This record gives sequence, C-alpha cells and structure tokens, in this order.
Amino acid sequence: MAGLSLGVDIGGTKTQWMVFDASFNVIAQHYVKTPALPAADWLCWLQQLLSPVLAAYPIQGIGIALPGIFSTEGVLQAVNLPSVHQRITHHELQALWSIPIMLGNDCRLAALAEAKLGAAKHCERVLSIRVGTGLGAGFCWRGVLYQGAHQQSCELGHQGLAAAVLVKWQLPLWSCNCGQLGCVEQYASGRGLLKLFQHFLQHSTEPTLPQWQQAFHRGDNAAKQSLDCWLDCLAALVNQQVLAFDPDCVLLSGGVFASEIQVSALVARIQQRFLTGWALPEFRQAQLLNSSCVGAALMVHQHYALDTTASDASN
Ligand SMILES: [Zn+2]
Repeated sequence: MAGLSLGVDIGGTKTQWMVFDASFNVIAQHYVKTPALPAADWLCWLQQLLSPVLAAYPIQGIGIALPGIFSTEGVLQAVNLPSVHQRITHHELQALWSIPIMLGNDCRLAALAEAKLGAAKHCERVLSIRVGTGLGAGFCWRGVLYQGAHQQSCELGHQGLAAAVLVKWQLPLWSCNCGQLGCVEQYASGRGLLKLFQHFLQHSTEPTLPQWQQAFHRGDNAAKQSLDCWLDCLAALVNQQVLAFDPDCVLLSGGVFASEIQVSALVARIQQRFLTGWALPEFRQAQLLNSSCVGAALMVHQHYALDTTASDASN
C-alpha cells in the first residue's frame, strides 16, 4: 500500500475526498456538504472529517484544493468560503497531522490532473481554463503545475478586459472584489454573462441564469447580444493567454458550457482573432470527474515524491 495519497476538494457547497494508490486508482471516496462555519471551527471540522480516513488507510500525503487566491503563507482570498477567507495558513494545516499537507487553487489543480491523467495527458504545455460562476485557470509544463513565485500564477480573471472589446461593446468598467476595475472575470465568467444581460436590458437588478436561458430561447435581443459580447470577452482573454504561453493544448471546461453556450462557438470566436498562418493550439474539453480532487493528490504526490509509479504509469 505504498504511495497512498489523499485529495480533498473543498467547494462552496460540497467537499469531496478521494484516496488514491500510487498509480492513481481510486481506493475510496466520499463527499459531504460544506458546512457554513465560523472561522475558528474550520480546522476542527477538517480534522474531524479526515482523521477517520487517515486512520483507515496508510496515507502518505494530503493535497487540499480550494477556490481561492493564495499567497506563500496560505489563503489570501476565498470569497465562496467565508470561513477560510484570509485565515487558513499552510503552517496551521501542517500542524494538524504529521504527514505532508499541501494547499492549492482548485482550478490550477484541475489543470494538473488533466495534464497528467486526463484530456491533455500527452501534451507538454497545457493551459486549462475553467468558466463557472467565476473564472479560473492553470498552466502545466511536462506534467508539472506552474505555481509562480508566490502561488499566484494564472489568476487570469484579474487581468483587464481587452480594450478592443470594451470599446466595441461600449462596456462600463465594473469593479472587481480584488479591488481593481475592469477585471475580465466580471465580464467573461458565468456571472459576467448575467451582468452583461442586465447591462443590455438596462435593468436595475441582475437577472438569474434561468431568466437568461428563457430569454435566449425566445430570441430576445438582449440575451443574444449578451452571449455575443460574452464570447468576445472570453475569446479575447484566451487569445491573450495563447500569445503569452504558446501552449500545445488549451482545455476548456466549466458549468457555463451547456446547450446554449457551446465550447465550439467559443473556439470559433478565438480562431477568428488570429492572423492567418499563426500556429494555434489544440482546443479540447476537459474530461476528468473530480479533477481538482485528483490534482490535489497529484500535487502532494509529485512534490514529496511519495512514489514514482504514478508518473511512470501516466507517461
Ligand atoms: Zn479582479
């Protein structure tokens, strides 16, 4: 049973844990509702959740994925998890158990899982972009996640929206929870689509996703306009990243892609933006279930070299 690792994905509504063997086969898994806890109780809850798993399996390392912005000390910002917002440090987590524990951004860890074991398994340079309510990304090179000097790489959502798109659609500069104006996440995320719909409707309140879907299906002009504008915002963002990273493969995923919003429509919009003759990456859809959980375990597995079997098996 050498090389067992535990991946944990703590989301705003659900927390999943999975135990993997050295070849990344799933040995056990479970999920619970993420409780709304005061910050003081958060580490205690985590300890109670995972201690039985650690007692049952000879786990050598724990990787934890969270939807947040990180610093070298720990969680800097996690707007969907108020109890861990600016409170959880690597040091506090490591004090809970005597085995290696690592913390990382859920979208970046999903990128690692896909690059190592999923849709981009044989690609050297993989850029993964996940569009849900918010917008997250990760970049892997030769199966290793690039985290940056301060664990803040690939915070693409806090780059500015492309000026050409801003001017074309005459959009206002919306403020972001990071403190800046005009961050692309405010326009190119699932929430951004609804804000754009509200903008084109000229309503005072933000519509819901079902309201946008109903309007879209009955051919409402503001709904169609918001999708057209949203595709421009997201295509411009991907275009900028392709120029920066020159990846072999761009993985696209997230809850925002559904029958009304096809990945193929986004890819077509991205391709329109490039000059003839440019070498483009392959665009693929992510394929792993629970990719953040898998990536969290992979991170600790790689970092502490718990075993070499997984990397051999996946090459
Ligand atoms: Zn921002």
